[in-house]
Amino acid sequence: MRPARTIATCFWCAVIAGCGGSAEIGGGSAGGATATSLSFLMPVVAGEQAYNAYGIWPFGVHGGGHATDGHPGIDVEFTPGASVRAAAAGTIQAVVGDTEIPGRYTIQIAHGARYRTDYTNVATLAEGIAVGGAVAAGQSLGEAGTQTLTIGTTPVTFAMTHFQVDDFEHNEGLSNPFAVSPVDALDPSARALFDTIWQGAAYRQELCEPFYANDRGSVANPVLTRVWIRQTGAHAGRVVFTCRTSASTAAYVLQNESGVAIEEGAVTITPTAGTAFSTIDLTPTGGTVRRGVYVITGSTMTIDYAEPGAARPGDLSGGSTYTTS
Ligand SMILES: [Zn+2]
Repeated sequence: MRPARTIATCFWCAVIAGCGGSAEIGGGSAGGATATSLSFLMPVVAGEQAYNAYGIWPFGVHGGGHATDGHPGIDVEFTPGASVRAAAAGTIQAVVGDTEIPGRYTIQIAHGARYRTDYTNVATLAEGIAVGGAVAAGQSLGEAGTQTLTIGTTPVTFAMTHFQVDDFEHNEGLSNPFAVSPVDALDPSARALFDTIWQGAAYRQELCEPFYANDRGSVANPVLTRVWIRQTGAHAGRVVFTCRTSASTAAYVLQNESGVAIEEGAVTITPTAGTAFSTIDLTPTGGTVRRGVYVITGSTMTIDYAEPGAARPGDLSGGSTYTTS
């Protein structure tokens, strides 16, 4: 039995970046006018997704090992024992042993000259998965490996893969410069599955990066600020969150409808994937904590927070809704 690892975020991208040969794949196609659209499946089939840790950790978020370059793929959570699936037909280009966790593999599949998909943390290789082999869309590549993540103070063991789409006609000059969000290239059934998983996804960075595909950006010390504007309810007219990507807490400012600050302080959240809401504590500078609950799905947030020192609301029925852009 393999010892569980506790990780703060996805670290396999370094494995992918270190893979030899990636630059050559698209070498002949730069500037070419032969862009083909390729549609992808999700690397998980319906019914085998899970929400014990985060459901999906989306593209572009800044945190942990991706504080400065943004996450180059999506981390997809599986039920333990489920298979990682090829997102499209192609040819296996590489099967790379994981240096972080011996016995785990990163599999890379070429889809013509322009696209490649990457799948990390594969624990066992399915029959016939070897370099040079052809795979069909949806074919099992092997079993998703498990990891352990501490959420709040609770260790959670879950199965996952880091799924990445590389477009060799794309170059942002970041680490993994070919990486693009796979979401808009999903075929309709895969997009529906993604949307279902996304409804239940929860992750710390969503206060400031709530979208399924976020701008990876490239800054030395990312400080991300997002303004949420009230649509219904009686809480503050605006809530402004500022996230420092290497920290586990964020800052908040409650404002009135005109944007005048009413209160500011520190935010601590405990994401709970796959449940109706997670907890959020707003601690005013020099003041007493407001205990709250919230849920964010894309650009909409519902939040309820109590008066300082009062009990945490038991649900979101008394909450206010906010949107961001
Ligand atoms: Zn990842």
